Amino acid sequence: MQDAVRRIVVVGGGTAGWITASLIAAEHVESARRPEVVLVESPDIPIIGVGEGTWPSMRMTLQKIGLPEAELLRQCEASFKQGTRFTAWARQGDDSRYVHPFSLPAEYATLNLAEHWLATDGTVPFADYVTPQAAVIEAGLAPKQPATPEYAFNVNYGYHFDAGRFAQLLHRHAVGRLGVRYVSGNLRQVESRPDGDIAAIVLDTGERLAGELFVDCTGQRALLIGRHPEADLVSVKDILFNDAAIAVQVPYTDPGQPLPSVTCATAVAAGWIWDIGLQTRRGVGHVYSSAHSSDEAAAAALRDYIARVSPRTDLERLSFRRIPFEPGYRRRFWVGNCVAVGLSGGFIEPLEASALALIEQAATLISRQLPVNRATMTVVAKRFNEKMAYHWERVVEFLKLHYVLSQRDDSEYWRACRDPASCPASLRDKLLLWQQQAPWHDDAPRVDELFPSASYQYVLYGMGFRPAFPAARGAAAGRDRERVARALEANAEKARQMRKLLPTNRELLESLAPMRGVA
Ligand SMILES: Cc1cc2nc3c(=O)[nH]c(=O)nc-3n(C[C@H](O)[C@H](O)[C@H](O)COP(=O)(O)OP(=O)(O)OC[C@H]3O[C@@H](n4cnc5c(N)ncnc54)[C@H](O)[C@@H]3O)c2cc1C
Repeated sequence: MQDAVRRIVVVGGGTAGWITASLIAAEHVESARRPEVVLVESPDIPIIGVGEGTWPSMRMTLQKIGLPEAELLRQCEASFKQGTRFTAWARQGDDSRYVHPFSLPAEYATLNLAEHWLATDGTVPFADYVTPQAAVIEAGLAPKQPATPEYAFNVNYGYHFDAGRFAQLLHRHAVGRLGVRYVSGNLRQVESRPDGDIAAIVLDTGERLAGELFVDCTGQRALLIGRHPEADLVSVKDILFNDAAIAVQVPYTDPGQPLPSVTCATAVAAGWIWDIGLQTRRGVGHVYSSAHSSDEAAAAALRDYIARVSPRTDLERLSFRRIPFEPGYRRRFWVGNCVAVGLSGGFIEPLEASALALIEQAATLISRQLPVNRATMTVVAKRFNEKMAYHWERVVEFLKLHYVLSQRDDSEYWRACRDPASCPASLRDKLLLWQQQAPWHDDAPRVDELFPSASYQYVLYGMGFRPAFPAARGAAAGRDRERVARALEANAEKARQMRKLLPTNRELLESLAPMRGVA
């Protein structure tokens, strides 16, 4: 075949580059038409080094590339993440909080427990009503027992990990076990063919790398995809205002202190603060809108938070790092023989940790539908562009849900976030519909949705949304009465059992990763 895809050149060695290279190599390792996968990385430009929270999809990705979970736990400071705890989003104050757990509500495939919860007085929080995972999270317990096989669980989980170490682990795995070729060098020149496709890239070392498919994983620089005018950035700054973050690593002041197995997301005057517990430190950061806060005020808000939740921390010894970003995504992600994965394809604030999940989705599609030649590449590219545009639109919508339902009125930022004019029309429509029915399968119809409709339920009812039309309140209360009672009793029994059986998050990590922190 004259234009067969024989070599794939991935430019960039951050999480996006290594996940993409690994998934392609793993998918085709035994195939007769095994393409060569080359990953090029600058020795001078560091990876972004943040991105510490994942979705449960990461378990599937790591299994797919054959990476033992023990290596992740031992080498990446990793801990188990069972969801996100939101504080002060609906209203100011620590008493306004809810969890978005990763487990689906009980019997979700055929029973919409949300409709039954709506018929109650709401004293039991929605997440506690529908899943035992809320109780597991609240008790600081792990998602499984020490003897549970790798990647299996009692309740669904993803990870928190050190992003820099994770990229290093993937590097070793991809090169050592999957046959990915690693080239160190700075991209200096892109050679084009007459049809606009990339023929080769040239590095500052003088090395010229020709290929049939080029994956742009160069992060915010977007060195390959950024050359295409049709792949310009679709800004979403008019919907989601946050455009900067300040990140800091905070050592534990007490080595035995409890390790929550959720990301803690606390809303503040001009944004929110993430707090992630790794094995020997926390990753903390403030995401904010530069139109509503100065950098100094944002840094002060972050310091106040750390001083409040961890009073023995020596703030003077911490190193704060500011990361600006333009919230948005590419109009097209795949142009010609160049496809963007990771930050080069776009970035929106890390609420709900969608970025790594999008990378997994993108890399999975590329690896599974890897074009054999240039003609099929056009078809795959079209699909890829449609799919990624769909996912990004859903991400924007889902993240906006966290803001638009807030009752906070304490700052210009929150008033702007709540303004219905800043809400995408698609979300406005859904919110209208949810006045008469609880979200369910029709609200997230694709098999590969990033956020299942259950996620919309957790946020919607956690934020205090109640349907206006009385018919919706307990419309189904009379139906399935016995089945619902059985489901609730089973949830309560599972919660009791798990409280007895499950170790704390820290206990489980200490049993599985005695060499933690060793790279
Ligand atoms: C503040 C913040 C918090 C985040 N939190 C989360 C989170 O909790 N969960 C989540 O899922 N995501 C999160 N993300 C997103 C996540 O960090 C990224 O999606 C992920 O790390 C992928 O980055 P990347 O590989 O695309 O880019 P990078 O890590 O920036 O890697 C770029 C690579 O390109 C290489 N490169 C650049 N220029 C050249 C050149 N000229 N020649 C050769 N190589 C070059 C660099 O050397 C590097 O290897 C967060 C992002 C930010 C900004």
